Amino acid sequence: MDQNPVIVIGGGIAGLATALRLAPLPVVLITASPLGTNAATALAQGGIAAALGEDDTPHLHAEDALTAAAGLGAPSITRRIAEAGPAAIAWLLEQGIGFDRMGDGKAIALGLEAAHSRRRIVHAGGDRTGRRVIDGLIGAARNTPSITLLEGKVLDLAMTANGHVGGVIYLPAGGRQATDAIVLPGRSVVLATGGVGGLYAHTTNPVTAIGTGLALAARAGAVLRDLEFVQFHPTAIAIGQDPMPLATEALRGEGAILVNASGERFMETVPGAELAPRDIVANAVFRQIVAGEQAFLDTRPTLGQTVHNRFPGFSALCASAGLDPEKQPIPIRPAAHYHMGGVKVDASGQTTVPGLWACGEVASTGLHGANRLASNSLLEAAVQSAWIAEDIKSSTAPDTRRLESTHRTPSLGEANASLRRQMDRDVGVVRDAAGLQRAIRNFWFAQDENAPDATLVALLIAVSAERRHESRGAHQRADHPRTSNTPRHIEITLTEALDSARELAESRAEAMEAFA
Ligand SMILES: Cc1cc2nc3c(=O)[nH]c(=O)nc-3n(C[C@H](O)[C@H](O)[C@H](O)COP(=O)(O)OP(=O)(O)OC[C@H]3O[C@@H](n4cnc5c(N)ncnc54)[C@H](O)[C@@H]3O)c2cc1C
Repeated sequence: MDQNPVIVIGGGIAGLATALRLAPLPVVLITASPLGTNAATALAQGGIAAALGEDDTPHLHAEDALTAAAGLGAPSITRRIAEAGPAAIAWLLEQGIGFDRMGDGKAIALGLEAAHSRRRIVHAGGDRTGRRVIDGLIGAARNTPSITLLEGKVLDLAMTANGHVGGVIYLPAGGRQATDAIVLPGRSVVLATGGVGGLYAHTTNPVTAIGTGLALAARAGAVLRDLEFVQFHPTAIAIGQDPMPLATEALRGEGAILVNASGERFMETVPGAELAPRDIVANAVFRQIVAGEQAFLDTRPTLGQTVHNRFPGFSALCASAGLDPEKQPIPIRPAAHYHMGGVKVDASGQTTVPGLWACGEVASTGLHGANRLASNSLLEAAVQSAWIAEDIKSSTAPDTRRLESTHRTPSLGEANASLRRQMDRDVGVVRDAAGLQRAIRNFWFAQDENAPDATLVALLIAVSAERRHESRGAHQRADHPRTSNTPRHIEITLTEALDSARELAESRAEAMEAFA
Protein backbone atom coordinates (compact mmCIF):
# COMPACT_ATOMS: atom_id res chain seq x y z
CA MET A 1 0.00 0.00 0.00
CA ASP A 2 2.77 2.36 0.91
CA GLN A 3 4.15 2.07 -2.59
CA ASN A 4 1.08 3.87 -3.96
CA PRO A 5 2.04 7.37 -5.09
CA VAL A 6 0.54 10.59 -3.80
CA ILE A 7 -1.92 11.79 -6.42
CA VAL A 8 -2.00 15.52 -7.09
CA ILE A 9 -4.86 16.78 -9.26
CA GLY A 10 -3.94 19.98 -11.09
CA GLY A 11 -0.99 21.55 -12.86
CA GLY A 12 -1.13 25.16 -11.62
CA ILE A 13 1.10 26.60 -8.90
CA ALA A 14 -0.73 24.63 -6.18
CA GLY A 15 -0.31 21.23 -7.83
CA LEU A 16 3.22 21.74 -9.11
CA ALA A 17 4.53 23.23 -5.86
CA THR A 18 2.96 20.41 -3.82
CA ALA A 19 4.46 17.75 -6.11
CA LEU A 20 7.91 19.39 -5.90
CA ARG A 21 7.80 19.78 -2.15
CA LEU A 22 6.76 16.11 -1.74
CA ALA A 23 9.98 14.88 -3.39
CA PRO A 24 11.41 12.28 -3.04
CA LEU A 25 7.99 10.73 -2.25
CA PRO A 26 6.55 9.36 -5.52
CA VAL A 27 3.87 11.64 -6.94
CA VAL A 28 1.54 11.29 -9.91
CA LEU A 29 0.40 14.73 -11.04
CA ILE A 30 -2.67 14.71 -13.28
CA THR A 31 -3.80 17.67 -15.39
CA ALA A 32 -6.93 17.89 -17.49
CA SER A 33 -5.16 19.98 -20.15
CA PRO A 34 -1.56 19.93 -21.38
CA LEU A 35 0.72 21.35 -18.68
CA GLY A 36 0.91 25.11 -18.77
CA THR A 37 -2.51 25.52 -20.41
CA ASN A 38 -5.95 26.08 -18.86
CA ALA A 39 -4.45 26.98 -15.49
CA ALA A 40 -5.22 30.37 -13.93
CA THR A 41 -1.62 30.45 -12.71
CA ALA A 42 -0.37 31.06 -16.24
CA LEU A 43 -2.61 34.14 -16.51
CA ALA A 44 -1.49 35.89 -13.31
CA GLN A 45 -0.10 39.30 -14.07
CA GLY A 46 0.39 41.42 -10.95
CA GLY A 47 2.57 39.11 -8.92
CA ILE A 48 3.07 37.54 -5.52
CA ALA A 49 2.70 39.46 -2.28
CA ALA A 50 5.48 39.11 0.31
CA ALA A 51 6.79 41.45 3.01
CA LEU A 52 10.29 41.98 1.62
CA GLY A 53 10.56 45.78 1.66
CA GLU A 54 12.58 47.61 4.33
CA ASP A 55 9.47 49.48 5.46
CA ASP A 56 7.36 46.31 5.52
CA THR A 57 6.70 43.46 7.96
CA PRO A 58 4.67 40.23 7.83
CA HIS A 59 2.52 41.82 10.54
CA LEU A 60 1.56 44.72 8.24
CA HIS A 61 0.94 42.30 5.38
CA ALA A 62 -1.34 40.18 7.57
CA GLU A 63 -3.21 43.28 8.79
CA ASP A 64 -3.91 44.32 5.17
CA ALA A 65 -5.17 40.80 4.35
CA LEU A 66 -7.42 40.74 7.43
CA THR A 67 -8.87 44.15 6.57
CA ALA A 68 -9.67 43.00 3.02
CA ALA A 69 -11.16 39.75 4.37
CA ALA A 70 -14.00 41.79 5.95
CA GLY A 71 -14.29 40.04 9.30
CA LEU A 72 -13.96 36.47 8.02
CA GLY A 73 -10.19 36.12 7.74
CA ALA A 74 -8.58 33.69 10.18
CA PRO A 75 -5.91 35.72 12.04
CA SER A 76 -3.61 32.82 12.92
CA ILE A 77 -3.47 31.34 9.39
CA THR A 78 -3.17 34.80 7.86
CA ARG A 79 -0.17 35.65 10.06
CA ARG A 80 1.44 32.27 9.39
CA ILE A 81 1.12 32.73 5.63
CA ALA A 82 2.40 36.32 5.72
CA GLU A 83 5.37 35.22 7.85
CA ALA A 84 6.16 32.40 5.41
CA GLY A 85 6.00 34.79 2.41
CA PRO A 86 9.71 35.72 2.14
CA ALA A 87 10.75 32.04 2.43
CA ALA A 88 8.23 31.10 -0.27
CA ILE A 89 9.78 33.68 -2.63
CA ALA A 90 13.23 32.26 -1.83
CA TRP A 91 11.93 28.75 -2.64
CA LEU A 92 10.50 29.93 -5.97
CA LEU A 93 13.87 31.52 -6.79
CA GLU A 94 15.50 28.15 -6.05
CA GLN A 95 13.12 26.55 -8.58
CA GLY A 96 14.66 28.81 -11.22
CA ILE A 97 12.06 31.59 -11.40
CA GLY A 98 13.74 34.91 -12.11
CA PHE A 99 11.85 37.78 -10.50
CA ASP A 100 12.30 41.35 -11.70
CA ARG A 101 15.10 43.29 -9.95
CA MET A 102 15.67 46.93 -9.14
CA GLY A 103 18.00 49.00 -11.34
CA ASP A 104 21.05 47.78 -9.37
CA GLY A 105 20.14 44.22 -10.37
CA LYS A 106 20.31 43.07 -6.75
CA ALA A 107 17.17 43.84 -4.75
CA ILE A 108 13.88 42.32 -5.96
CA ALA A 109 11.62 45.05 -7.40
CA LEU A 110 8.41 45.51 -5.42
CA GLY A 111 5.16 46.78 -6.94
CA LEU A 112 2.11 48.33 -5.25
CA GLU A 113 -1.43 47.00 -5.59
CA ALA A 114 -4.84 48.01 -4.29
CA ALA A 115 -5.40 47.74 -0.53
CA HIS A 116 -1.73 46.93 0.20
CA SER A 117 -0.24 49.50 2.59
CA ARG A 118 3.30 48.85 1.32
CA ARG A 119 5.07 48.00 -1.94
CA ARG A 120 5.27 44.21 -1.69
CA ILE A 121 4.29 42.70 -5.05
CA VAL A 122 7.07 40.52 -6.44
CA HIS A 123 6.76 40.16 -10.22
CA ALA A 124 8.46 38.58 -13.19
CA GLY A 125 8.68 39.66 -16.83
CA GLY A 126 6.77 42.86 -15.94
CA ASP A 127 3.17 41.70 -15.95
CA ARG A 128 3.95 38.12 -17.06
CA THR A 129 4.48 36.76 -13.53
CA GLY A 130 2.14 33.78 -13.82
CA ARG A 131 3.67 32.57 -17.10
CA ARG A 132 7.18 32.75 -15.63
CA VAL A 133 6.10 31.00 -12.43
CA ILE A 134 4.32 28.13 -14.16
CA ASP A 135 7.10 27.63 -16.74
CA GLY A 136 9.70 27.58 -13.96
CA LEU A 137 7.74 25.07 -11.90
CA ILE A 138 7.01 22.84 -14.90
CA GLY A 139 10.74 22.82 -15.70
CA ALA A 140 11.56 21.88 -12.10
CA ALA A 141 8.87 19.15 -12.06
CA ARG A 142 10.16 17.64 -15.32
CA ASN A 143 13.63 17.45 -13.72
CA THR A 144 12.34 15.74 -10.58
CA PRO A 145 12.46 11.94 -10.97
CA SER A 146 9.86 11.32 -8.23
CA ILE A 147 7.17 13.17 -10.22
CA THR A 148 5.20 11.41 -12.96
CA LEU A 149 3.17 13.77 -15.13
CA LEU A 150 -0.09 12.45 -16.59
CA GLU A 151 -2.63 14.17 -18.79
CA GLY A 152 -6.25 13.31 -18.18
CA LYS A 153 -9.33 14.38 -16.31
CA VAL A 154 -10.06 13.17 -12.80
CA LEU A 155 -13.77 12.30 -12.78
CA ASP A 156 -14.15 11.05 -9.27
CA LEU A 157 -12.42 10.15 -6.02
CA ALA A 158 -12.02 6.45 -5.20
CA MET A 159 -13.01 5.64 -1.62
CA THR A 160 -12.02 2.80 0.69
CA ALA A 161 -14.76 0.91 2.54
CA ASN A 162 -14.16 3.00 5.69
CA GLY A 163 -14.61 6.37 3.96
CA HIS A 164 -10.95 7.19 3.34
CA VAL A 165 -9.91 8.62 -0.02
CA GLY A 166 -7.74 5.93 -1.61
CA GLY A 167 -7.19 7.17 -5.14
CA VAL A 168 -8.91 8.67 -8.16
CA ILE A 169 -10.88 7.60 -11.18
CA TYR A 170 -9.45 9.36 -14.16
CA LEU A 171 -9.99 9.51 -17.86
CA PRO A 172 -6.66 9.53 -19.71
CA ALA A 173 -6.27 12.19 -22.42
CA GLY A 174 -7.95 10.93 -25.58
CA GLY A 175 -10.56 8.90 -23.63
CA ARG A 176 -14.01 9.76 -24.86
CA GLN A 177 -16.49 8.37 -22.36
CA ALA A 178 -16.68 7.71 -18.66
CA THR A 179 -16.34 3.97 -19.24
CA ASP A 180 -12.79 4.59 -20.54
CA ALA A 181 -11.85 5.83 -17.07
CA ILE A 182 -9.41 3.91 -14.91
CA VAL A 183 -8.86 3.61 -11.18
CA LEU A 184 -5.53 4.86 -9.83
CA PRO A 185 -4.86 4.02 -6.17
CA GLY A 186 -3.05 6.66 -4.15
CA ARG A 187 -1.70 6.90 -0.60
CA SER A 188 -3.08 10.47 -0.40
CA VAL A 189 -4.92 12.73 -2.84
CA VAL A 190 -4.37 16.48 -3.16
CA LEU A 191 -6.96 18.64 -4.91
CA ALA A 192 -5.27 21.54 -6.71
CA THR A 193 -7.97 22.10 -9.30
CA GLY A 194 -8.28 25.90 -9.20
CA GLY A 195 -11.35 28.12 -9.23
CA VAL A 196 -14.89 28.50 -10.58
CA GLY A 197 -14.81 31.51 -12.92
CA GLY A 198 -15.75 29.36 -15.93
CA LEU A 199 -19.24 29.05 -14.42
CA TYR A 200 -19.80 32.72 -15.29
CA ALA A 201 -20.42 34.24 -18.72
CA HIS A 202 -17.91 37.01 -17.93
CA THR A 203 -14.73 35.66 -16.42
CA THR A 204 -10.98 36.09 -16.47
CA ASN A 205 -10.45 32.39 -15.64
CA PRO A 206 -9.89 29.60 -18.14
CA VAL A 207 -13.40 28.53 -19.21
CA THR A 208 -12.53 25.04 -17.95
CA ALA A 209 -12.30 26.40 -14.37
CA ILE A 210 -15.70 25.11 -13.28
CA GLY A 211 -14.85 23.91 -9.79
CA THR A 212 -14.49 20.20 -10.48
CA GLY A 213 -12.41 19.90 -7.30
CA LEU A 214 -15.35 21.22 -5.29
CA ALA A 215 -17.63 18.65 -6.93
CA LEU A 216 -15.16 15.81 -6.24
CA ALA A 217 -14.83 16.82 -2.59
CA ALA A 218 -18.57 17.43 -2.17
CA ARG A 219 -19.47 13.98 -3.51
CA ALA A 220 -17.00 12.45 -1.05
CA GLY A 221 -18.86 14.24 1.80
CA ALA A 222 -16.39 17.09 2.45
CA VAL A 223 -17.45 20.28 4.18
CA LEU A 224 -17.28 23.30 1.86
CA ARG A 225 -16.95 26.81 3.27
CA ASP A 226 -18.08 30.31 2.22
CA LEU A 227 -18.76 29.35 -1.40
CA GLU A 228 -20.77 32.54 -1.93
CA PHE A 229 -17.60 34.65 -1.92
CA VAL A 230 -16.64 35.00 -5.58
CA GLN A 231 -14.37 37.93 -6.31
CA PHE A 232 -15.22 39.94 -9.40
CA HIS A 233 -12.25 41.72 -10.90
CA PRO A 234 -13.30 45.29 -11.68
CA THR A 235 -11.16 45.73 -14.78
CA ALA A 236 -11.53 42.83 -17.19
CA ILE A 237 -10.94 44.18 -20.70
CA ALA A 238 -14.24 44.21 -22.60
CA ILE A 239 -13.13 43.32 -26.13
CA GLY A 240 -15.44 40.34 -26.72
CA GLN A 241 -12.99 37.60 -25.69
CA ASP A 242 -13.86 34.55 -23.56
CA PRO A 243 -12.16 34.38 -21.11
CA MET A 244 -11.77 38.10 -20.76
CA PRO A 245 -8.21 39.39 -20.60
CA LEU A 246 -7.31 41.33 -17.50
CA ALA A 247 -6.08 44.84 -16.96
CA THR A 248 -3.91 44.19 -13.92
CA GLU A 249 -4.53 46.09 -10.71
CA ALA A 250 -0.90 47.20 -10.84
CA LEU A 251 -2.01 49.66 -13.56
CA ARG A 252 -4.19 51.41 -10.99
CA GLY A 253 -1.33 51.06 -8.52
CA GLU A 254 0.71 53.14 -10.97
CA GLY A 255 -2.01 55.78 -11.30
CA ALA A 256 -4.43 54.63 -14.03
CA ILE A 257 -7.95 55.99 -13.43
CA LEU A 258 -11.51 54.80 -14.11
CA VAL A 259 -13.83 56.94 -16.19
CA ASN A 260 -17.23 56.56 -17.88
CA ALA A 261 -18.16 57.49 -21.42
CA SER A 262 -18.77 61.09 -20.33
CA GLY A 263 -15.19 61.24 -19.02
CA GLU A 264 -16.38 61.37 -15.37
CA ARG A 265 -13.88 59.85 -12.91
CA PHE A 266 -16.50 57.92 -10.94
CA MET A 267 -14.15 56.60 -8.20
CA GLU A 268 -12.81 60.05 -7.31
CA THR A 269 -15.03 60.59 -4.24
CA VAL A 270 -14.89 57.00 -2.96
CA PRO A 271 -12.40 56.43 -0.08
CA GLY A 272 -9.27 54.90 -1.59
CA ALA A 273 -10.47 55.95 -5.07
CA GLU A 274 -9.19 53.52 -7.76
CA LEU A 275 -7.17 51.66 -5.11
CA ALA A 276 -10.18 50.85 -2.91
CA PRO A 277 -10.71 47.11 -2.25
CA ARG A 278 -11.76 45.10 -5.29
CA ASP A 279 -15.38 44.58 -4.24
CA ILE A 280 -15.91 48.34 -3.91
CA VAL A 281 -14.34 49.08 -7.30
CA ALA A 282 -16.21 46.17 -8.96
CA ASN A 283 -19.50 47.45 -7.54
CA ALA A 284 -18.84 50.96 -8.77
CA VAL A 285 -18.04 49.70 -12.29
CA PHE A 286 -21.07 47.39 -12.20
CA ARG A 287 -23.33 50.32 -11.21
CA GLN A 288 -22.06 52.30 -14.20
CA ILE A 289 -22.90 49.42 -16.52
CA VAL A 290 -26.36 48.85 -14.98
CA ALA A 291 -26.99 52.60 -15.43
CA GLY A 292 -26.25 52.19 -19.14
CA GLU A 293 -22.79 53.76 -19.00
CA GLN A 294 -19.64 52.20 -20.39
CA ALA A 295 -16.62 52.07 -18.10
CA PHE A 296 -13.01 52.62 -19.15
CA LEU A 297 -9.53 52.37 -17.69
CA ASP A 298 -7.45 55.38 -18.61
CA THR A 299 -3.68 54.95 -18.29
CA ARG A 300 -2.81 58.08 -20.29
CA PRO A 301 -2.51 60.68 -17.50
CA THR A 302 0.17 58.87 -15.48
CA LEU A 303 1.70 56.20 -17.67
CA GLY A 304 1.56 57.81 -21.10
CA GLN A 305 3.79 55.99 -23.55
CA THR A 306 5.63 54.13 -20.76
CA VAL A 307 2.62 51.80 -20.56
CA HIS A 308 4.08 49.74 -23.43
CA ASN A 309 7.37 49.02 -21.66
CA ARG A 310 6.08 48.73 -18.15
CA PHE A 311 2.99 46.65 -18.96
CA PRO A 312 3.90 44.80 -22.15
CA GLY A 313 1.24 42.10 -21.64
CA PHE A 314 -1.56 44.68 -21.25
CA SER A 315 -0.27 46.69 -24.18
CA ALA A 316 -0.16 43.59 -26.42
CA LEU A 317 -3.70 42.55 -25.41
CA CYS A 318 -5.03 46.01 -26.27
CA ALA A 319 -3.14 45.94 -29.59
CA SER A 320 -4.74 42.56 -30.44
CA ALA A 321 -8.12 44.35 -30.33
CA GLY A 322 -6.87 47.35 -32.28
CA LEU A 323 -6.66 49.55 -29.14
CA ASP A 324 -3.75 51.67 -27.94
CA PRO A 325 -3.72 52.58 -24.22
CA GLU A 326 -1.27 55.38 -24.92
CA LYS A 327 -3.91 57.07 -27.08
CA GLN A 328 -7.33 56.00 -25.73
CA PRO A 329 -9.12 54.75 -22.59
CA ILE A 330 -9.67 50.98 -22.62
CA PRO A 331 -13.21 49.49 -22.13
CA ILE A 332 -13.54 47.34 -19.01
CA ARG A 333 -16.20 45.54 -16.92
CA PRO A 334 -16.26 43.31 -13.81
CA ALA A 335 -15.73 39.58 -14.38
CA ALA A 336 -15.65 36.52 -12.10
CA HIS A 337 -12.02 36.22 -11.12
CA TYR A 338 -11.23 34.41 -7.91
CA HIS A 339 -13.04 32.07 -5.52
CA MET A 340 -12.42 32.86 -1.87
CA GLY A 341 -14.65 29.98 -0.76
CA GLY A 342 -13.66 26.39 -1.20
CA VAL A 343 -13.08 23.04 0.42
CA LYS A 344 -12.60 23.65 4.14
CA VAL A 345 -9.07 22.74 5.21
CA ASP A 346 -7.15 22.85 8.48
CA ALA A 347 -3.72 24.37 9.04
CA SER A 348 -2.11 21.39 7.27
CA GLY A 349 -4.36 21.61 4.24
CA GLN A 350 -6.40 18.54 5.24
CA THR A 351 -10.06 18.51 4.27
CA THR A 352 -12.74 16.97 6.49
CA VAL A 353 -12.48 13.71 4.48
CA PRO A 354 -9.57 11.46 5.55
CA GLY A 355 -6.92 11.06 2.86
CA LEU A 356 -7.91 14.25 1.00
CA TRP A 357 -5.95 17.52 1.05
CA ALA A 358 -6.71 20.72 -0.89
CA CYS A 359 -4.24 23.39 -2.02
CA GLY A 360 -4.56 26.73 -3.80
CA GLU A 361 -7.74 28.30 -5.05
CA VAL A 362 -9.90 25.21 -4.48
CA ALA A 363 -9.16 25.35 -0.74
CA SER A 364 -10.62 27.56 1.96
CA THR A 365 -7.72 28.10 4.37
CA GLY A 366 -9.08 31.20 6.11
CA LEU A 367 -6.65 33.62 4.44
CA HIS A 368 -9.09 35.37 2.14
CA GLY A 369 -12.29 35.49 4.20
CA ALA A 370 -14.93 37.46 2.31
CA ASN A 371 -12.46 39.15 -0.03
CA ARG A 372 -8.98 38.39 -1.26
CA LEU A 373 -6.18 40.88 -1.10
CA ALA A 374 -4.59 41.11 -4.55
CA SER A 375 -1.57 38.83 -5.16
CA ASN A 376 -2.20 36.76 -2.04
CA SER A 377 -3.40 33.67 -3.91
CA LEU A 378 -0.12 32.67 -5.57
CA LEU A 379 1.49 33.27 -2.20
CA GLU A 380 -1.07 31.10 -0.41
CA ALA A 381 -0.47 28.16 -2.77
CA ALA A 382 3.33 28.52 -2.56
CA VAL A 383 3.21 28.48 1.24
CA GLN A 384 0.41 25.97 1.81
CA SER A 385 2.02 23.40 -0.52
CA ALA A 386 4.90 23.08 1.98
CA TRP A 387 2.55 22.45 4.90
CA ILE A 388 0.62 19.84 2.90
CA ALA A 389 3.77 18.02 1.81
CA GLU A 390 5.00 17.88 5.40
CA ASP A 391 1.67 16.55 6.64
CA ILE A 392 1.41 13.90 3.91
CA LYS A 393 4.94 12.70 4.58
CA SER A 394 3.94 11.91 8.16
CA SER A 395 0.51 10.42 7.30
CA THR A 396 -0.43 6.74 7.16
CA ALA A 397 -1.36 5.17 3.83
CA PRO A 398 -4.83 3.58 3.60
CA ASP A 399 -5.63 0.01 2.54
CA THR A 400 -6.57 0.48 -1.11
CA ARG A 401 -7.36 -3.14 -2.02
CA ARG A 402 -11.07 -2.35 -2.44
CA LEU A 403 -11.95 1.05 -3.85
CA GLU A 404 -15.33 2.45 -4.84
CA SER A 405 -16.46 5.43 -6.85
CA THR A 406 -18.57 8.08 -5.03
CA HIS A 407 -21.26 7.91 -7.70
CA ARG A 408 -22.20 5.66 -10.53
CA THR A 409 -21.53 7.43 -13.78
CA PRO A 410 -19.18 10.36 -13.46
CA SER A 411 -20.11 13.08 -15.92
CA LEU A 412 -17.89 14.77 -18.45
CA GLY A 413 -19.97 17.92 -18.71
CA GLU A 414 -18.72 21.51 -18.60
CA ALA A 415 -20.63 24.74 -18.06
CA ASN A 416 -23.08 25.49 -20.84
CA ALA A 417 -23.95 28.98 -22.02
CA SER A 418 -27.31 29.17 -20.25
CA LEU A 419 -25.82 28.18 -16.87
CA ARG A 420 -23.07 30.75 -17.32
CA ARG A 421 -25.61 33.47 -18.17
CA GLN A 422 -27.72 32.55 -15.16
CA MET A 423 -24.69 32.69 -12.84
CA ASP A 424 -23.86 36.17 -14.16
CA ARG A 425 -27.42 37.41 -13.76
CA ASP A 426 -28.54 35.75 -10.52
CA VAL A 427 -25.34 34.85 -8.63
CA GLY A 428 -23.21 37.75 -9.90
CA VAL A 429 -21.79 41.04 -8.58
CA VAL A 430 -25.08 41.99 -6.85
CA ARG A 431 -27.58 39.31 -5.77
CA ASP A 432 -31.03 39.13 -4.19
CA ALA A 433 -33.30 36.39 -2.87
CA ALA A 434 -35.54 36.26 -5.95
CA GLY A 435 -32.61 35.74 -8.33
CA LEU A 436 -30.81 33.29 -6.10
CA GLN A 437 -33.93 31.20 -5.58
CA ARG A 438 -34.62 31.21 -9.31
CA ALA A 439 -31.07 29.98 -9.93
CA ILE A 440 -31.31 27.29 -7.24
CA ARG A 441 -34.58 25.96 -8.68
CA ASN A 442 -33.15 25.84 -12.20
CA PHE A 443 -29.92 24.13 -11.09
CA TRP A 444 -31.96 21.74 -8.94
CA PHE A 445 -34.14 20.64 -11.86
CA ALA A 446 -31.03 20.32 -14.07
CA GLN A 447 -29.16 18.11 -11.63
CA ASP A 448 -29.52 14.45 -10.77
CA GLU A 449 -27.21 11.85 -9.31
CA ASN A 450 -24.95 12.15 -12.34
CA ALA A 451 -25.21 15.90 -12.75
CA PRO A 452 -22.35 17.58 -14.53
CA ASP A 453 -19.86 19.09 -12.09
CA ALA A 454 -20.77 22.57 -13.32
CA THR A 455 -24.43 22.23 -12.32
CA LEU A 456 -23.57 20.81 -8.93
CA VAL A 457 -21.04 23.53 -8.14
CA ALA A 458 -23.35 26.30 -9.39
CA LEU A 459 -26.06 24.91 -7.11
CA LEU A 460 -23.71 24.79 -4.11
CA ILE A 461 -22.63 28.42 -4.67
CA ALA A 462 -26.21 29.66 -5.15
CA VAL A 463 -27.48 27.87 -2.00
CA SER A 464 -24.60 29.33 0.05
CA ALA A 465 -25.30 32.82 -1.34
CA GLU A 466 -29.01 32.48 -0.58
CA ARG A 467 -28.17 31.58 3.04
CA ARG A 468 -26.04 34.67 3.66
CA HIS A 469 -28.53 37.40 4.53
CA GLU A 470 -26.08 40.29 4.57
CA SER A 471 -23.62 42.10 2.32
CA ARG A 472 -20.00 41.42 3.15
CA GLY A 473 -16.85 41.62 1.08
CA ALA A 474 -17.47 40.19 -2.36
CA HIS A 475 -21.01 39.04 -1.49
CA GLN A 476 -23.37 41.96 -2.14
CA ARG A 477 -27.10 41.47 -1.58
CA ALA A 478 -29.43 44.18 -2.90
CA ASP A 479 -32.07 42.95 -0.41
CA HIS A 480 -29.65 42.76 2.55
CA PRO A 481 -27.32 45.73 2.06
CA ARG A 482 -26.12 45.83 5.68
CA THR A 483 -23.20 43.90 7.15
CA SER A 484 -24.07 41.84 10.19
CA ASN A 485 -22.22 42.66 13.44
CA THR A 486 -21.43 38.99 13.97
CA PRO A 487 -19.34 37.59 11.12
CA ARG A 488 -19.96 33.90 10.55
CA HIS A 489 -18.90 31.30 8.05
CA ILE A 490 -21.35 29.36 5.92
CA GLU A 491 -20.37 25.72 5.85
CA ILE A 492 -22.25 23.29 3.67
CA THR A 493 -22.17 19.68 2.51
CA LEU A 494 -23.64 18.37 -0.71
CA THR A 495 -26.47 16.62 1.16
CA GLU A 496 -27.43 19.85 2.94
CA ALA A 497 -27.34 21.85 -0.29
CA LEU A 498 -29.49 19.31 -2.11
CA ASP A 499 -31.99 19.22 0.78
CA SER A 500 -32.27 23.04 0.75
CA ALA A 501 -32.72 23.10 -3.01
CA ARG A 502 -35.35 20.35 -2.90
CA GLU A 503 -37.34 22.18 -0.20
CA LEU A 504 -37.21 25.38 -2.21
CA ALA A 505 -38.26 23.66 -5.43
CA GLU A 506 -41.09 21.79 -3.68
CA SER A 507 -42.41 24.85 -1.82
CA ARG A 508 -42.52 26.74 -5.10
CA ALA A 509 -44.33 23.85 -6.80
CA GLU A 510 -46.89 23.77 -3.95
CA ALA A 511 -47.40 27.52 -4.18
CA MET A 512 -47.96 27.24 -7.94
CA GLU A 513 -50.50 24.44 -7.39
CA ALA A 514 -52.36 26.44 -4.73
CA PHE A 515 -52.43 29.43 -7.07
CA ALA A 516 -53.77 27.28 -9.94
C1 LIG B 1 -6.21 36.67 -15.21
C2 LIG B 1 -5.80 36.32 -13.81
C3 LIG B 1 -4.83 37.07 -13.16
C4 LIG B 1 -4.42 36.75 -11.87
N1 LIG B 1 -3.43 37.47 -11.28
C5 LIG B 1 -2.97 37.09 -10.06
C6 LIG B 1 -1.86 37.73 -9.47
O1 LIG B 1 -1.25 38.63 -10.05
N2 LIG B 1 -1.46 37.31 -8.25
C7 LIG B 1 -2.09 36.31 -7.55
O2 LIG B 1 -1.69 35.96 -6.44
N3 LIG B 1 -3.15 35.68 -8.11
C8 LIG B 1 -3.59 36.04 -9.34
N4 LIG B 1 -4.65 35.39 -9.89
C9 LIG B 1 -5.22 34.24 -9.18
C10 LIG B 1 -4.26 33.08 -9.29
O3 LIG B 1 -3.71 33.05 -10.59
C11 LIG B 1 -4.96 31.76 -9.02
O4 LIG B 1 -5.71 31.85 -7.84
C12 LIG B 1 -3.94 30.66 -8.86
O5 LIG B 1 -3.09 30.64 -9.97
C13 LIG B 1 -4.65 29.34 -8.72
O6 LIG B 1 -3.69 28.34 -8.78
P1 LIG B 1 -4.17 26.85 -8.67
O7 LIG B 1 -2.95 26.01 -8.84
O8 LIG B 1 -4.99 26.68 -7.45
O9 LIG B 1 -5.16 26.63 -9.92
P2 LIG B 1 -4.87 26.74 -11.48
O10 LIG B 1 -3.63 27.44 -11.79
O11 LIG B 1 -6.12 27.23 -12.13
O12 LIG B 1 -4.66 25.22 -11.90
C14 LIG B 1 -5.73 24.31 -11.85
C15 LIG B 1 -5.28 23.03 -12.51
O13 LIG B 1 -6.20 21.98 -12.21
C16 LIG B 1 -6.46 21.23 -13.39
N5 LIG B 1 -7.73 20.54 -13.19
C17 LIG B 1 -8.93 21.07 -12.82
N6 LIG B 1 -9.85 20.09 -12.71
C18 LIG B 1 -9.22 18.93 -13.01
C19 LIG B 1 -9.63 17.58 -13.08
N7 LIG B 1 -10.88 17.21 -12.78
N8 LIG B 1 -8.72 16.64 -13.46
C20 LIG B 1 -7.44 16.99 -13.75
N9 LIG B 1 -6.99 18.27 -13.69
C21 LIG B 1 -7.87 19.22 -13.33
C22 LIG B 1 -6.41 22.28 -14.49
O14 LIG B 1 -6.23 21.67 -15.75
C23 LIG B 1 -5.20 23.09 -14.02
O15 LIG B 1 -4.01 22.44 -14.43
C24 LIG B 1 -5.05 35.69 -11.19
C25 LIG B 1 -6.04 34.94 -11.82
C26 LIG B 1 -6.40 35.25 -13.12
C27 LIG B 1 -7.46 34.42 -13.78
